[in-house]
Amino acid sequence: MTEKINLEKFPLEIRDKLIPDYIGDVVYECIGCGNEFDINQFLYICPKCRSLLRLNDRNFNSLKSIKGKTWQEIFDYRKMLNLESLKGIFLFKEMLFPTIPLEDVVYLGEGHTPIVRANPDLQRIVGIDFSVKNDGLNPSASFKDRGMASAISYINYSIKRRDLKEVLGICASTGDTSAAAALYLSYLDKKIVKSVVLLPKGKVTPQQLSQPLGSGATVIEVPGVFDDCMKLVEELAEEYQVCLLNSKNPVRIMGQKSYAYEIAQQLDYNLKDLVIVVPVGNAGNVTAIMEGFLDLHRLEIVPELPLILAVQSNHANPVFNWHQTGEYTPMKVRPSVAQAAMIGDPVSFPKVKKLVNEHYQDFFMSVDLDEKDIMEGMLEANCHGHVVCTQGGESIAGLKKAVSMGMVNKNHKVIVDSTSHQLKFSNFQDMYFKDEFPEEYEIKSEQRFINKPVHLGASSREIADYLNLKKKCSP
Ligand SMILES: *Cc1c(COP(=O)(O)O)cnc(C)c1O
Ligand SMILES: [Zn+2]
Repeated sequence: MTEKINLEKFPLEIRDKLIPDYIGDVVYECIGCGNEFDINQFLYICPKCRSLLRLNDRNFNSLKSIKGKTWQEIFDYRKMLNLESLKGIFLFKEMLFPTIPLEDVVYLGEGHTPIVRANPDLQRIVGIDFSVKNDGLNPSASFKDRGMASAISYINYSIKRRDLKEVLGICASTGDTSAAAALYLSYLDKKIVKSVVLLPKGKVTPQQLSQPLGSGATVIEVPGVFDDCMKLVEELAEEYQVCLLNSKNPVRIMGQKSYAYEIAQQLDYNLKDLVIVVPVGNAGNVTAIMEGFLDLHRLEIVPELPLILAVQSNHANPVFNWHQTGEYTPMKVRPSVAQAAMIGDPVSFPKVKKLVNEHYQDFFMSVDLDEKDIMEGMLEANCHGHVVCTQGGESIAGLKKAVSMGMVNKNHKVIVDSTSHQLKFSNFQDMYFKDEFPEEYEIKSEQRFINKPVHLGASSREIADYLNLKKKCSP
């Protein structure tokens, strides 16, 4: 596969590093007791103390023998290689998940999402210059594809290496994890791989429900909210042979770190005064982003860490509350339009806490929002040329609030994470336009945002009259 590639056009110093051959020495590492475990098994919590696991490359420090500047060149020139397996998140394979051989990488077009400058009028409304990194442009239309690409590549590799005859991939979901899991699992050999998703009934959008159904997964709807589904899959993963595909699986976090690597590359590795705005639900994404920037910093690919602004709805804000008070209390969520982040007891919270305490103490900020702000954040962005989901709207509204509170100012360079595509959450737009939000959301629609179809006869005259069109002058 790789010998056909002509490397002669690339600088000599990096030529032999363009196609990565580094495989590292990756193990599961417990974030509680520090014990390490072989990665040739599916593990989600520490068998000794039940804390969360992270993946640790024990050879990571050997990567420091290459200078940060040289790493930049390697990643930048690697982008020019026409090698499919390196086109997505595995462009950064040495830091991301070096174990997996290139031929086992499953690439469905994820990653390399654009950074789009916010419309100038929107910037004025928000009160600051900013850009949106649009992760809704992934194959299943959310950032979850990043983590699923690494998880499913790992399953693909495990099937071959461990000669597995049966794998049942399962996840609980607020909608997007199941869409991504079902998509990526359906790409693998159906004789070996089965795909099951567990959804809280009525708590995912119709589009998000249609995605795993379309991918052929077994879709199980149960009463309750995400936190209830999560408990069920945790029990299943404990007692039965299943592969858990939630972000509790550290292999997911591995892939999601690519979001940070890409930002660094897209900014030419200049992260000075950078602020990343992230909506937080189960806290896997914010964990991965912080870990990703740490990797870059450790290899001196970037000289500094960015600031992280975590945003939550005040209907589901356990991380915000912890950050403000120092006390972490799981909460019962109330309905939120940022439904993909409507989680009262985020699984990755212990990782967030550890990362903030050890590395991001001065680099972590948080705000929470009313539901109405979130909804209008989305509507305002989308009528200015963007395609953000409610969680993207949450990020933008969160930025606006942080600016008004003086936490973010003109000296900052801001990138907002739009975590999925507008179309996934159009039901909330519908509710808004019809002014039909159930009371619990506490959202009353404002006329200036409302848009509805106009019904006219099939008559050009009638349409012209309605639009007040001016007649052309005859020549
Ligand atoms: C999953 C998800 C989130 C929340 O991410 P976490 O990793 O759970 O914090 C936010 N937005 C969208 C669109 C999502 O699918
Ligand atoms: Zn442990």
